[in-house]
Amino acid sequence: MAVERSAGRPGSPAGEAVPLASLRYIAAYPVDLRVQVQRLIDDAALGRHLLKRYPLVHDVRSDRALYQYVDRLKQDHLRGTDRIDKVLFDSKIHLVHQALGLHTSRARVQGSRLKGSREIRIASLFRVAPLEFLRMIFVHELAHLRVREHDKAFYQLCLHMEPTYHQLEFDVRLYLTHLDLGGDRVWGETQSDALSK
Ligand SMILES: [Zn+2]
Repeated sequence: MAVERSAGRPGSPAGEAVPLASLRYIAAYPVDLRVQVQRLIDDAALGRHLLKRYPLVHDVRSDRALYQYVDRLKQDHLRGTDRIDKVLFDSKIHLVHQALGLHTSRARVQGSRLKGSREIRIASLFRVAPLEFLRMIFVHELAHLRVREHDKAFYQLCLHMEPTYHQLEFDVRLYLTHLDLGGDRVWGETQSDALSK
């Protein structure tokens, strides 16, 4: 079964209430979509669904490799925006609202003047995940260099960088839902691990 997000962005009216309390990561999506996801969950098929869609894991495993990946993405699409000082996988990030990434601009005193330091941290669970997920997260975070709010301009920028952005964000949220419900990590350190499951 293909769970495809229809065009548009999250935030449409939820419609009639359905007991989908555990689906907090996809709470903003239309109810018919959440019902389809609930069916996958009931069939214990959500993990398999994701693995089938994204069979390969990326090999961006270190913070250094991650920085290079993000910097390249930025060069390709957002030249001229502020420099990013630091990018890292953070094992302490697992709160709902932080799971997709957390960027901070910290003011720090250097000499006599304040200097901003911009860093992006993402949950370390994405260290072993499909490249598409990494891309979605950083397209999102990089778009915030230009647009602060999650408004129309923001999503347009995301789509400019990654035309399938909405589908990818939905699938990342499906993975978070899967983990939230106690599911095992879907991908292993190597591709063969992942495929043997
Ligand atoms: Zn955001």
